[in-house]
Amino acid sequence: MPVRLTLPFGRPICPLFLALLVLGVVVPRQAEAQKKTGETKGADTKSSVSKSKRPRDFAPTGVAEYQSPNFFVVTDLSPDETKDLLKRLENMLGLIEKYYDHKLRAPISMYVVKDLKAWPQNVLARFEGAGLQSIRDGAGVTMGRSQISRSTGEIVNSAATVYAVADRGTPQHEAVHAYCQLSFGRVGPTWYAEGMAEIGQYWTEKGLGVHCHDVVLKYLQRSEPKELIEIVDTTDQTGDSWENYAWRWVLCHMLANNPNYAPRFKPLGLGMLKGQDVSFESVYGSMAKEIQFEYSFFLQHIDQGFRADLCAWDWSSKFAACKGPVPMTVKIDAMRGWQPSRAIVSADEEYDFSVSGTWKTTTSGTPVNADGATDGNGKLEGVIFDDYTLSEPFELGTYGTFKAPKSGNLMLRCRDKWNELADNNGKLQVKLKQTGKGNPLPKPEKITAPVDSNPKSPKTKSPTKSSEPSAKPAE
Ligand SMILES: [Zn+2]
Repeated sequence: MPVRLTLPFGRPICPLFLALLVLGVVVPRQAEAQKKTGETKGADTKSSVSKSKRPRDFAPTGVAEYQSPNFFVVTDLSPDETKDLLKRLENMLGLIEKYYDHKLRAPISMYVVKDLKAWPQNVLARFEGAGLQSIRDGAGVTMGRSQISRSTGEIVNSAATVYAVADRGTPQHEAVHAYCQLSFGRVGPTWYAEGMAEIGQYWTEKGLGVHCHDVVLKYLQRSEPKELIEIVDTTDQTGDSWENYAWRWVLCHMLANNPNYAPRFKPLGLGMLKGQDVSFESVYGSMAKEIQFEYSFFLQHIDQGFRADLCAWDWSSKFAACKGPVPMTVKIDAMRGWQPSRAIVSADEEYDFSVSGTWKTTTSGTPVNADGATDGNGKLEGVIFDDYTLSEPFELGTYGTFKAPKSGNLMLRCRDKWNELADNNGKLQVKLKQTGKGNPLPKPEKITAPVDSNPKSPKTKSPTKSSEPSAKPAE
């Protein structure tokens, strides 16, 4: 039965997907819905939203039916609210179709309810029991059915009807289930079905960053990471708890956006949607340590706008011991997270660095060198990676000497808020060498005084010394 899933602040999220496999029975759900709720053929599909004739019995209540190219919606929302809803649904559907490279063949039928009391009995009588119950529970449900061929065992026909409360996320979430059901005959295992539906709920043109409800974000920020193996547990039932939905979303978001895992994620998803014998474990088993590391890293830094793609770990770079008289040179990009210096450093040694060039931590900001701005943004900093764990970060700068807090692979980055990397630009050239070997590193051509990285408050600061190496952890 449907389970109420209400976020702490009272906003319900979609809890449930029900799929029924009906052997040998064609369920003309779409045709039935259209016949029962009024004529929609010939509706204007040029505009993204068109409103069809209201059947007589709908008129006094404000319940009406609307059609856009891919959605057929019966709702008590106002025409303007419905227009906004259909616009969001169409936008999201376009992104889903692009992602799966699969066009929806028939419109998705939806009942979207703002106030159940406004709905006439004869319309409510058409609701399936679980649909009505889910609406009463302040949530949503997608009733899916697929017809299986007796001879081949393959799915030959599918139908889906969405029942959703008229909040911002639930109709979008349910529409993802309906799209999967109609396109592939399945929605996949719970972790994937609900994780992708949550992605759909948040899917906007805003791009690749994290955009989720604040309450979900705060929950994830303060919680101990849930074990991956628990998230993908195939015995999990849909509609269990909003917290479980949050973990499923995190995993799917990271796998879909991080270039280390995205190329395998789409085929895995399609395989599961098509009923093939694939699973999270079979596809990612060989990358378990890497995924675990990046999953933990993602949760450690998750915030609105955080970009899993920009912070993806470079697992392919080759590292070598930094020793002898010949300096090692590497370019570090302001827009990326930790990047390989390709130098293995020892905690027992000292190393010289010399960094040339400038970068910016905002689109319109002032370029700064590796010493960064007075607020610390733009400073070159390092961290040591060893056996899938990280040291505390430590500051570098344009020129100086440092001692690593532990032995391992030196990673470097431009200091900035982790969720604000996307507007950075520029690269610095970093030279590294074991202290005392060979010639001293050349000083960078010009070491300017630190400037304020915020162009809106151009304070004049007195010049300070170029950076001293420091083992003090960065904030
Ligand atoms: Zn769902």
